[in-house]
Amino acid sequence: MEVRKTLNFKTTLIGGISMTTMKCDMCEQEFSAESFEEWFKQMQEHYMKDHKDFMEQAKNKTKEEGMKWMAEMKAKFDAL
Ligand SMILES: [Zn+2]
Repeated sequence: MEVRKTLNFKTTLIGGISMTTMKCDMCEQEFSAESFEEWFKQMQEHYMKDHKDFMEQAKNKTKEEGMKWMAEMKAKFDAL
């Protein structure tokens, strides 16, 4: 039993990079990334392309609102 556990653990490590997949908060499109920062980069491009209206509205929002959104998205991402 113990040996098996060790082997499984090693496999996980060799498997390496763990990708997290999370959906856009405005549509069904999914993005996979190693970190929230990478995920957010993909999201930014996606927003520019597919949620232009939202980007326009976002310009009128305060920094605090933007920060709050980021924090919420990061919390969701980290919980996956
Ligand atoms: Zn989207």
